[in-house]
Amino acid sequence: MTLSMKLIISSVLSYVLLVMPCLGISISLDYSHSATSFFNTGTSDGVTARAAVQAAANDLSDAITSSLSSLDMSSSPAYSGTSGGATITLTPSLSYTNPDTAGSESFSGSLSANEFIIFVGARSLGGLTLGQGGPGGVGLGVGSSLTGSPSEAQVQAAADSASASASAAMTRGGHVIETITGAFGDPYAGVTYSTSFGPTIGNLWFDNDGSTTWHLDHTTSVALSSSDLYSVALHEMLHSLGIGISNPWDDLVSGTDWLGSEAIAEYGSGTALIDSGGGHIASSIMSTRLSDGGSQEVVMDPDITTGTRKELTDLDLAFLRDIGWQTVPEPTSSLLLCLGALLGLTTRRRL
Ligand SMILES: [Zn+2]
Repeated sequence: MTLSMKLIISSVLSYVLLVMPCLGISISLDYSHSATSFFNTGTSDGVTARAAVQAAANDLSDAITSSLSSLDMSSSPAYSGTSGGATITLTPSLSYTNPDTAGSESFSGSLSANEFIIFVGARSLGGLTLGQGGPGGVGLGVGSSLTGSPSEAQVQAAADSASASASAAMTRGGHVIETITGAFGDPYAGVTYSTSFGPTIGNLWFDNDGSTTWHLDHTTSVALSSSDLYSVALHEMLHSLGIGISNPWDDLVSGTDWLGSEAIAEYGSGTALIDSGGGHIASSIMSTRLSDGGSQEVVMDPDITTGTRKELTDLDLAFLRDIGWQTVPEPTSSLLLCLGALLGLTTRRRL
């Protein structure tokens, strides 16, 4: 090979590495319900608070390499299956909690490929609670058109077809967060249907009743006796992605033991790895910080000490993998492409 050919090939390879998009989800923040002063962009505190929550969303987006299909909920998508004279139609729906008012909101927007939307706000939370977060809610409408007394097997076949179509769309090619199942009444009482829902939307809110002294600026050290907004945002976003609140999480919790292989491999054991409340990693568990390899209490501990900041740890990501997400580091060649893009385009590295 001549030198010039090597150079050309090298240049092409560099170009591919630089333009290759890094795989992974993109967490979008929606403040459309946020009417309190906490996130008011007309104030410097509001701007600083939004920047901290955005930084948490960016860091989490960088760490998750899963792909999600686009999903348009603006026209109430319906999924039908037909067999013989039976047509079954399933109409999935998404909802979320209004972060400011706690009221229920239906979601009728659209999600771009890889997009996960989190609705953010603030309201008064009792006791020592700093924030709360979780996945959005799911619903399922069922319709049937039966002509000429179809057999139960035909109705089931139609329901199976509709269930498969609805689940394929709603899981977005990702993993299952929650499944709704149901059964028909007489004379088709044996016929069942179901729809699985993947990652779509979430919600989170922060305490704003004056009982919490917030440290808003994620670029400065956390002031003594203050609670770090970035750290709390990261924790609540992990809830919204299913940590502590999802079917796959529940499937892997047995008392205070964790049954997921990734976290067990990372920590060495799943015994007593779960908090007694069932929705967090057990208190005071340490892991390795992604950013610098330092030792730190996990983000998904039930509590955070004032005056401290938490960043993502290896164990937090292992739990994400156990409930279905793909995260860095990836054991495939796509990691090299991803790292190539990161090295070329940013100074931020996560391994
Ligand atoms: Zn929590």
